[in-house]
Amino acid sequence: MTDGAVRGAVRLKAGRGKSVINRHPWVFSGAIALREGAPRPGDVVDVLDDGGRFLARGYYNPRSQIVVRLLTWNPDEAIDDAFWYMRLGAAMARREGLGEDPATTAFRLVYAESDGMPGLVVDLYEDWVVVQALTLGIETRKEALTALLREVLAPRGIIERSDVDVRAQEGLPQHAGVLFGEAPDGTVIVRENGLRYAVDLLTGHKTGFYLDQRENRRKVAAYAAGAQMLNAFAYTGGFAVTAGAAGAARVTNLDSSADALREAEANLRRNDLATPVESIQGDAFQVLRRLVAEGRQYDLVVLDPPKFAFSKGQLNAATRGYKDINMLGMRLLRPGGVLATFSCSGLVSEDLFQKVLFGASVDVRREARILERLGPGGDHPVLFTFPEGAYLKGFICRVE
Ligand code: SAH
Repeated sequence: MTDGAVRGAVRLKAGRGKSVINRHPWVFSGAIALREGAPRPGDVVDVLDDGGRFLARGYYNPRSQIVVRLLTWNPDEAIDDAFWYMRLGAAMARREGLGEDPATTAFRLVYAESDGMPGLVVDLYEDWVVVQALTLGIETRKEALTALLREVLAPRGIIERSDVDVRAQEGLPQHAGVLFGEAPDGTVIVRENGLRYAVDLLTGHKTGFYLDQRENRRKVAAYAAGAQMLNAFAYTGGFAVTAGAAGAARVTNLDSSADALREAEANLRRNDLATPVESIQGDAFQVLRRLVAEGRQYDLVVLDPPKFAFSKGQLNAATRGYKDINMLGMRLLRPGGVLATFSCSGLVSEDLFQKVLFGASVDVRREARILERLGPGGDHPVLFTFPEGAYLKGFICRVE
């Protein structure tokens, strides 16, 4: 049960209310002039302007740089069980098309701030639900939220994957386990774009699968018929399986994880695809260089690296990394080949990423054109008032 009682308030410094008025859901410690009452971490507090007028309401964590995460701008709305029920219902309604599509049984149901539920991620995998509690405000409501998800979704089990670094910024340890029901016996077989994938909900990356690339796997597959494909940062073969089903002639999966590569091969077999597969385990920066030295050439290269920039201080190194692998990727393409390249670093804007690709193409003297600009699927929506929710961007380019 969450009764939603307001247990205090924070008053903002003069001139610091603008972002709240503009509905950005974060209140930073530096914007706060004083606290009223004695709210405990996780409690609901009101956010007031310097004159004491109500601006918004959210949950409180004095241990975080983001002291309040805002939940409502309506003074009459209580943050009780009914509130979470309504918010979950709205998030589900936003994904109605996906929920009714039998070709896709794994997708994101709740995308935190972007769905008006800061700190809460809920992903659906067939009959299982995977939850991430990214903030203390969600951590303290975990029991009530688990009960709500049980009631509304009636899953076989609810798995928690709060084993993420950002929890440290909230003063929370990492945690993973079963919140309700049974853990799947081994992997869960899900469908995406009509194809089958095994997902390990307890130990896989993120909540098990890179759900944010669903639409892009389909878009990239449109260039795969007859192609020799290099799938760098392959993980469990999402792009390889979709391309194989679209008629790729041959796929080379490259990843630093031998387990992921094995799983990628298994996923191709699982879909009865006879696509010849080569698996190369190693550091992509070195392997790509070696493939260039060997004179290898492909018709389609996918580059989907992990996040390179975790802070502004890492931005320069990250852009150098992106430029490096994209230069190598371009050099591995036959003239007229297609490069599908991604960045999931939120700090690297689409504009900056485009500039990096420009620099790469000039340096390797390959004329390149953008065919498509890519982002995450609609189950990872981006609120205009919370641009931080946009982290994944990509380009499909033709490289002459
Ligand atoms: N394209 C995948 C997701 C990629 S996630 C999909 O569609 O599901 C990033 C992958 O890069 C992970 O599988 C990780 O094991 C791998 N990785 C991380 N650093 C690497 C490196 N330096 N060289 C090769 N692979 C790396």
